[in-house]
Amino acid sequence: MSNATRMEEEANKVLAEGSKLVNLLHDMTSLTHDRLEKRTQATLVKISNMKTLIFILIVLGPIVAIGMAIVCTQGLARPLSVLLQATRKLKSGDLSFRVQGLTDEFGEMAAAFNEMAAALHEQMHNMQRAEQMTMVGEMAAGLVHEIKNPLAGIKGAMQVFQEEADISEEERAILSQAIDEVQRVESLMKSLLNFAKPPKPQLLPVNINDVLEATINASIPYSSSAPDSPKAIRIVKHFDPHLPMTMVDPLEMQQVFLNLLMNAVQAMPSGGTVTATTFENAAAKEIHIEIADTGMGINDEISEKIFQPFFTTKNKGTGLGLAISKQFIEMHGGTISAEKNPAGGATFRIILPCTQAEEAPLPDQDHRDVRIA
Ligand code: ADP
Repeated sequence: MSNATRMEEEANKVLAEGSKLVNLLHDMTSLTHDRLEKRTQATLVKISNMKTLIFILIVLGPIVAIGMAIVCTQGLARPLSVLLQATRKLKSGDLSFRVQGLTDEFGEMAAAFNEMAAALHEQMHNMQRAEQMTMVGEMAAGLVHEIKNPLAGIKGAMQVFQEEADISEEERAILSQAIDEVQRVESLMKSLLNFAKPPKPQLLPVNINDVLEATINASIPYSSSAPDSPKAIRIVKHFDPHLPMTMVDPLEMQQVFLNLLMNAVQAMPSGGTVTATTFENAAAKEIHIEIADTGMGINDEISEKIFQPFFTTKNKGTGLGLAISKQFIEMHGGTISAEKNPAGGATFRIILPCTQAEEAPLPDQDHRDVRIA
C-alpha cells in the first residue's frame, strides 16, 4: 500500500518535471523558429540584391566597357593627331608652330617637339642671315670698289674749287657742305663694308684701360663744347688699376668704344656726364667695360632693335655703329648689351673673356685690308 502511494507520488513528480521540460522545449523551439525565420528572410533579401547586381553587371558591363574603350581610344588618338598635325606644319615650313594643350607623356613629347622646332627656327634664321650677309658683303665690296674712285675724284675737285681765291664765301660754304656729304658717303661705304665683311680680329696683348683712355681723349674733346658751357660733356672714369692684359684687336676695340662714346655724346645734346668704368671678374675670367650717359635713354620700343643693322633714330645716322660693335665684340667671344638707367640715360655693357697670349688663336693677315680708318 505504502509502496503504491509512493509510486504514485513519484509518478506525479516525474509527470510534473516532464511537463516542465516539454514547456521549456516548446519555448526553445519557438525562439529558434523566430530567429531562423529572420535569418532566412535576410538571406533571401541578400540573394535578391545579388541577383539585381548580377543583372545590372550583365546588362551594363558591355556598355561600360565600350564607353571606356571609346574614351581610351580618343585619349590616344587626339594627342597623336595633334602631334601629326604639328609635324605636317613643320614639314610645310611653318617653324613658328608650337604644340599646345597636351599633358602627361604626350605633354613631354610636345615640349621636346617645341624645343626641336625652336632650334630649327634659330638655325634657319642664322643660315638665312649668313647668306644675306654674304650677299650684302659682295654687293658692298662691289659698290665700294665702283664708287670709291669717282667719289675721291669729286671730293678732290671740290677741294680744289674751294681753294680758289675768286669764289664768294657763300660758294665756299656750299662746297664745304658738299665735301662733308661726300665724306659721309665714304664713311657709310666703309661702315657697310666693315659690317658685311668684318675683318678677323688681330689679337694683341692689350690693357683695355689704355685703349679706352686713348679713345676718350681722341673723341670727346672734339664733340663736346667748352667745359664751362651748360652743354659741356663731363667725363668720369672709374678704371680698375689692376685690370689684367687681355688678347684683343686694339683697333676693333677702339672702333667699338668710339661708337659708344659718340652715341653717348649725341644722346646728350644739352650736355651731361659720360661715365666709363672697367673692372675684372676674376672668378669668371672676364673683363667688364661700361659706358653710361645721362642722355635721353633707350625706350622699351627700340631697345630690341638698336643692335640691328640699319636701325637708327637719327636724321643722319647709318644704324651700323652698334651692329658693327656687336659683331666685333662677338668675334672676340664677348657680349654687348644696353639698358636704361633708372635715373635717366643709358648704359652699354661689354663683357670680354680675359684671354692670355698662349690661349689666343694665331693672327690671320688676310683680313687686314678691310678696316675703318
Ligand atoms: P646710329 O648712331 O647711326 O643711329 P647706332 O647703331 O650707333 O647707329 O645706334 C642705333 C640707335 O640706337 C641710335 O639711332 C639710337 O636711337 C640708339 N642709341 C644708341 N646709343 C644710344 C644712347 N647712348 N642713348 C640713347 N639711344 C642710343
